[in-house]
Amino acid sequence: MSYKEILDKIETQLEGEAHLDELANKKQDPFKILISTILSARTRDANTRIATEKLFAKYNNPKSLSEADIEDIEPLVKSSGFYKVKAARIKEVSNVLIKKYNSKVPENYENLIDLPGVGSKTANCVLVYAFKIPAIPVDVHVNRISNRLGWVKTKNPLQTEVALKKTVPKELWLKLNRLFVRFGQQICVSIRPKCEICVIKDICPKDFSMELAKKKKKKKE
Ligand code: SF4
Repeated sequence: MSYKEILDKIETQLEGEAHLDELANKKQDPFKILISTILSARTRDANTRIATEKLFAKYNNPKSLSEADIEDIEPLVKSSGFYKVKAARIKEVSNVLIKKYNSKVPENYENLIDLPGVGSKTANCVLVYAFKIPAIPVDVHVNRISNRLGWVKTKNPLQTEVALKKTVPKELWLKLNRLFVRFGQQICVSIRPKCEICVIKDICPKDFSMELAKKKKKKKE
């Protein structure tokens, strides 16, 4: 089965939209997508969604956010966790955007990665979700699923990004994160993946259904 066929099959099983996907589909501005991606670090989509909407109801551009008091930003982004660090970071990013980029979010990886606290995943998310520029943001879901499927054999997200770029055709890069994030939230979850109902279990080398069945049987004995 080709990469495209696997991704198409996965898509048939998914419901709803992940948060960044939702913002991209609503054609939200790149600044909101950048800030939301920063807020999404180590938290769930639902928490990111609340924090982003609360924040943007009050401060929706680099100027207003750079002029805001940290004490005013913190409660707005509290639901995203690590809120003190994140509040300071988004204020700092807003300042840099004003000073270096005329309040615009840059459209290339080198300038994005240069922003304070922006790593490879965030930079790639902005390219994909804000500008539709082919890139592969590797978060925990993409990292886990790519390894389970045997597409890569890697130990960390950066290695995964490099390996995926070598193997997955470029025309699929834009949809890879979008699909794997939801697939990782709904089916191929970290603990107890739902292999019994997974649409690609026939081709997955890591199909855990037998393992789970054995465990259940052992429990009954
Ligand atoms: S069979 Fe299991 S491990 Fe493989 S992709 Fe599906 S849910 Fe993930």
